[in-house]
Amino acid sequence: MDIYSGPVFEMARQQFRTVADHLGIPENERDRLLYPKRAIAVAMPVNMDDGRTRVFRGYRVQHHLTLGPTKGGTRFAPNLDFGEVGALAIWMSWKCALVGLPYGGAKGGVACDPRTLSKRELEAVSRRYMQEMIPFVGPHTDIMAPDLGTNEQVMAWFMDTYSMFQGHAVAEIVTGKPVALGGTVGRREATGRGIAYLVARALEAIKLKAAAATAIVQGFGNVGAVAAVTLARRIGVRIVGLADHTAAYYDAKGLPLDAIETHTHAHDGVLAGWSKEMLIGGNELLTQPCTVLVPAAIEQVITEKNAGHLRCRILAEGANGPTTPAADAILDQRQDEIFVIPDILCNSGGVVVSYFEWVQDLQQLFWTETEVNHRLEQILEAAFQQVARRGRNDRVSNRIAAMALGVEKVRAGKQLRGLFP
Ligand code: NAD
Repeated sequence: MDIYSGPVFEMARQQFRTVADHLGIPENERDRLLYPKRAIAVAMPVNMDDGRTRVFRGYRVQHHLTLGPTKGGTRFAPNLDFGEVGALAIWMSWKCALVGLPYGGAKGGVACDPRTLSKRELEAVSRRYMQEMIPFVGPHTDIMAPDLGTNEQVMAWFMDTYSMFQGHAVAEIVTGKPVALGGTVGRREATGRGIAYLVARALEAIKLKAAAATAIVQGFGNVGAVAAVTLARRIGVRIVGLADHTAAYYDAKGLPLDAIETHTHAHDGVLAGWSKEMLIGGNELLTQPCTVLVPAAIEQVITEKNAGHLRCRILAEGANGPTTPAADAILDQRQDEIFVIPDILCNSGGVVVSYFEWVQDLQQLFWTETEVNHRLEQILEAAFQQVARRGRNDRVSNRIAAMALGVEKVRAGKQLRGLFP
């Protein structure tokens, strides 16, 4: 299984080992639970605008097929490899099981920097990727969704490419597509809204008032921007820090979200160029005082270097894998307990509403946004309570509690189905 290597896979492996030890899972069962069932790599030739033919690397990893089709995002990022995609697929499995969805985890993507591609090139890469994946995906096999570097438009191209090969529209092949193509209302906002809901629950749990709370959000894309706006407008939290890959801003008095959104809409979605006075270093921002810190960009940003210096009360993990195991160990030992909402719970709103989208597409029966949000909150509430209860009963961190719940369900499914042949 040495195709899976690198720091992100190592992190997923280490977390699994800790949970497997906690659950007393025999060595004999561990590899079967951890290692992905299928890993697909494709070479994708694409005609570029300058006349060259460039060959991109595309990946898809399907972690387990025990409880239903696999489900997971598609990431367009420069250094993507099997290690990163494999880890993300594994986390997706624990997440789906935790919130009770009938899916195994998957993840995939293309090693490319979408910001350097023209719109035509991006469309060509997207279509070629889906075309290469057609033998391996399907509405009852593996369903894709957006992730870092992809969006509703990319999902629309995926859906069109798959549908053209089938000869009819197959909306249920991807989620996170535009509502006009069978997407669901509330999907685009779901991950950020879910984060805000869970932050409100965490504030209640540690008896802090939202009106007196502040937040710093790293990442101003699909997840981070909606999380920041919902935290501010629906929960009443003051946003004091924001960052993306181009700039970071901090103001203890609060940042004007309306003005920042107007700026990003006019500047390709990026924060750079909005203010000189409030600029701060990206790493420095993470250790500024705040009630809630929301890493909502990339993996491994809370490390052994800064975990001891965080000055938040709640760490709400919007991104997948933002906290390394070494940082976890430091957080666990801090006297001033930080309430961690672990990634597989915190950002699960996205896959929950993706599931709603798939169900609606299969039934051709569409729900209102009120229904979507209500059902989302019911699922998040149940998962939040289960994690809190499990953490208390087993005297473990929220991360171990959440992962234990997820791993147990996958394990039970494998035991009941047995080993074929
Ligand atoms: P996105 O591409 O829409 O946005 C990513 C944001 O992160 C951008 O603002 C980008 O500038 C910023 N960023 C990138 N590198 C950075 C850096 N080094 N420092 C600071 N900011 C940086 O992606 P997204 O869909 O918002 O996903 C963000 C995270 O949330 C990822 O970890 C993803 O796996 C996870 N996630 C996404 C969803 C979803 O529904 N989109 C669901 C669950 C989890």
